[in-house]
Amino acid sequence: MIRVDPGDYIGIIGGGQLGRMMAYSAYQLGYRIAVLDPDSESPLAQIAHKKIIAAYDDKKAVQELAGLASVMTYEFENVSVPELESVSRDHPIFPNLRLLSISQNRINEKNMCRRLGLKTANFLGAETYEQCSQLLEFGHYPAVVKIARGGYDGKGQWRVESRTELEEVLEKRPHMPLIIEEFVPYDVEISVVLTRDQQKEMVDFGVMENYHRQGILDVSISPARVSEQVAERAISYARQIASDLDLVGTMTVEFFVVGDEVLVNELAPRPHNSGHLTIEAFDYSQFDQHIRAIAGVPLGRPCRGTPAAMANLLGDLWQQGALDWRKALETPHTSVHLYGKSEPRLGRKMGHITALADTPEAAGRRVRHAREELTRDLTL
Ligand code: AMP
Repeated sequence: MIRVDPGDYIGIIGGGQLGRMMAYSAYQLGYRIAVLDPDSESPLAQIAHKKIIAAYDDKKAVQELAGLASVMTYEFENVSVPELESVSRDHPIFPNLRLLSISQNRINEKNMCRRLGLKTANFLGAETYEQCSQLLEFGHYPAVVKIARGGYDGKGQWRVESRTELEEVLEKRPHMPLIIEEFVPYDVEISVVLTRDQQKEMVDFGVMENYHRQGILDVSISPARVSEQVAERAISYARQIASDLDLVGTMTVEFFVVGDEVLVNELAPRPHNSGHLTIEAFDYSQFDQHIRAIAGVPLGRPCRGTPAAMANLLGDLWQQGALDWRKALETPHTSVHLYGKSEPRLGRKMGHITALADTPEAAGRRVRHAREELTRDLTL
C-alpha cells in the first residue's frame, strides 16, 4: 500500500480548478502539492508549493514531478498515457493508467460497459478513416456523432437525423476516432461520484441530477429526484465499474435516465463538476475522499449528505458588466467559489455557487437566485 505522510508531496498533473480544490483538501491533512501545468498562473499553480511549468507530455517534467511526489494523480483526462507509463513503474499514479486510457476513448468506455453487461445507448465506433464506412451501417436515428477522444463540454459533437446528414459530417473529416450514438430521449441526466481506496473500500455521494446548457453543466441538484430503483441501479453500475477498473481515488459516471432504465453516457476518472456541491453538502467532499484514497489513509465515514444545489459561473456572466458579489454572498446558506482565473472567456468555468436547503427543490431555487443576484442590477 502507498502511504503518504504529512509534509510529503502529492503531485498533480493539470492545474485547473479540480486540482485547486484537491489541494485545499490535501492542505487540511498537511500534505504539500506539486503541480505540472504549462500555465504558471493556473488555478492550482497559484496555490501550489511547487510548480513545474511544462507541457503535460513533457517527459522530463513528468520525471521531475514523479521524483518529488510520494504519489501522483491527475485532474483531467487528456494527459498522455505513454509518457506516464514508464514513470508509473516506479512511481504510483492513481487512478491507474488502464482506467485513464479507457476513459480517454468513448468507444473503449462503451465496450467496457458492454463487457460488464451495463446498458448504454446503441453505438458504433470507428478508430480510423478507413473504418468510417462502417458507421454508415448505423440504423438508429436521430443520433449524435462524437469525437471519441479529446472532446469535452459538448465540443466535437454533431447531431444527425439521417444517413445523409451523417455522410455530410463524415465528409468534413473530423478528428478520429469517432463514435455514433443513438440520441437518447432521456427524462433526466444524473451522475454518481464515488471514491474507492487502496483497500477496496468504497464511498459514494448518492446520485446527482444534472442540467446542461449548450453541452456544459449548468446546475446540479443532490439528491437527484429519481426513483429508488433508478438511484440504486446507477450506484450499482458505478460501483461495478470502479471495482472492475480497480479504481483508487474519486471517479464519476454520467447516465441518462429513461423510465426505470439508466444508460451509461461517460466516465470521468476524477472528481467532477457535479460533485462540487459535496464540499458543503457532505461530511467529506469528493476532493477530501480522493486525497485520502490516494494517500492511503482511511476514507471519511460516515459520509452523509444534505440537500444541495450547485450552479456554475461561466465567463459569459462577466460579459454583462461588473458582477455584484455582495448580493450573492448575502444569500443565506450559499457559498461562492472562484477559481482565480483572470480571463472570463465565453463558456469558461470561472467559479460556482453552492446552496443548501431543506429540499433539493429549494436548494435549486436558492442557488439560481444567488446566481441571478450577481447580475440583477445590470439587467434592470
Ligand atoms: P457528453 O460530452 O457525452 O457528456 O455530452 C454532452 C451533453 O450532450 C450530454 O450531457 C447530453 O446533454 C447531450 N448528449 C450527449 N450524448 C447524447 C445522446 N446520445 N443522447 C442525448 N443527449 C446526448
